[in-house]
Amino acid sequence: MTKPTLTTDCLTDYLIVGSGAVGMAFADVIFHETNCRMVIVDRHHGPGGHWNDAYPFVRLHQPSAYYGVNSKPLGSNSKDQTGLNVGMYERATSSELVSYYEQLMQQFVASGRVQYFPMSDYVGDWNTDHRFRSLMSGEERVVTVAKKIVDTTHLNTSVPSTHPPKYAMAEGVHCVPLNELPRIKQSPSGYLVVGAGKTGVDACLWLLENGTPPDSITWIMPRDSWFQNRAKVQPGKEFFEASYGSFAEQMEIIAGAASIDDVYAKLEAGGHWLRLDKTVQPSMYHGALMSQSELELLSTIKNVVRMGRIQGIERDQIVLANGTYPTDANRLYVDCSASAVQFHAGTDSTPVFAGNKITPQFVRTFQPTFSAAFIAHIESNFEGEEQKNQLCGPLPMPDKQMDWLRMHAANLRNQYRWSKNKALRAWIAKSRLDGFTALAMSVKPWDFKRISLLRRYGMNAGPAAANLKNLLTAV
Ligand SMILES: Cc1cc2nc3c(=O)[nH]c(=O)nc-3n(C[C@H](O)[C@H](O)[C@H](O)COP(=O)(O)OP(=O)(O)OC[C@H]3O[C@@H](n4cnc5c(N)ncnc54)[C@H](O)[C@@H]3O)c2cc1C
Repeated sequence: MTKPTLTTDCLTDYLIVGSGAVGMAFADVIFHETNCRMVIVDRHHGPGGHWNDAYPFVRLHQPSAYYGVNSKPLGSNSKDQTGLNVGMYERATSSELVSYYEQLMQQFVASGRVQYFPMSDYVGDWNTDHRFRSLMSGEERVVTVAKKIVDTTHLNTSVPSTHPPKYAMAEGVHCVPLNELPRIKQSPSGYLVVGAGKTGVDACLWLLENGTPPDSITWIMPRDSWFQNRAKVQPGKEFFEASYGSFAEQMEIIAGAASIDDVYAKLEAGGHWLRLDKTVQPSMYHGALMSQSELELLSTIKNVVRMGRIQGIERDQIVLANGTYPTDANRLYVDCSASAVQFHAGTDSTPVFAGNKITPQFVRTFQPTFSAAFIAHIESNFEGEEQKNQLCGPLPMPDKQMDWLRMHAANLRNQYRWSKNKALRAWIAKSRLDGFTALAMSVKPWDFKRISLLRRYGMNAGPAAANLKNLLTAV
């Protein structure tokens, strides 16, 4: 191995570790709202983080309209003309995302205020000794940081192509990450999709949409999941009733629920939450979105194995936590078992602001890029660590259905604090990553129908926060 050599030529205000969606959303706000210099380092060869490793048919599961960075629109705000999400707002592919972030990075670097070091590993102590090592030459550089280091690696996003399966496999078992699916030249005797999160769903949809008979697919589903109904989180005026109607009804449901089970039952009855099988109570909630048409297509897969996690795959059987399932050596296993983000619900107490370190986390439900931009805005416009942390209370990342309630309680707390600050309200309304506030602000006072929806939401937010406390203490 090359012996590290040291140079000390980097001086910066912010050192950002990671040029994924979070690092870029953070850097974008610092770039536009301050004159600060930034050094950005990443192990990847270009910006975009895990989107560089993604399977070729991946798309965002939320609309592009409110993903990316604040200063630069993503996509053309069009709607799908065909397919399972027809009529809904476009969702970027991984290649669109990578190209979007590349263009943005070029703009940053051309300004002379940003230095970018791809193929570089941060190897400092996250405190005062900041250094990174080139993965190509082994050369190490020391960075002098005038303001802060920003750690965007905390959520530790993982995708199947970079995280091989944890279960054992006998020789001769064919297992591929879903990146390999489009390269298939010969059909196997059947497909076994392992995992029922967002990537497992994507693998099954891709197989079905490309002509695989549903009977040829076996779906290993260690846990069933709740999904959010994509039709109810659409931006755009034409979806106002669907989106704000859903937000208002969800508040009403939480505010009036007699028990936690009552919340889930009503969220499903109202069409806000979807599940694959009405006879199975899901235990997982990762916030993935799905359309009704996708759900209908997925429900054509009848071979669903609910016997817990796989422990090992032998040539003639799969060993699962709760029994064995027969198989044959000619099946193709599609591994979708990597967990997209690390789920720390209730176990992680890392603050966003701590001394000379910023750890971006979710401060709004399922909005990593809005959250990173918001945190950068707070960093550059507010004083005092205590105040900054009060405005940026991290939301616990959900894993189980119960965590949805914990996450919402923290979300409502943040929203309440933000609502007390006029300048912050104005910034949020202008943020393209927000998606919905500007829409609400554009409602005319004489538009009674829409005003009453907004009122319904506002009137129920306080009681919902109070009832969430009761529901959660009763657990
Ligand atoms: C398939 C999939 C679809 C998703 N769809 C959506 C969606 O529609 N909407 C949404 O809001 N979220 C979505 N997510 C969630 C996703 O976590 C976020 O969108 C976001 O991309 C995460 O970005 P990140 O910057 O936190 O992480 P990453 O993309 O993982 O970026 C972190 C970067 O840090 C670098 N790094 C790590 N350690 C070091 C080190 N020591 N030195 C240097 N560099 C380092 C890595 O190389 C990486 O490039 C999706 C996730 C997946 C997996």
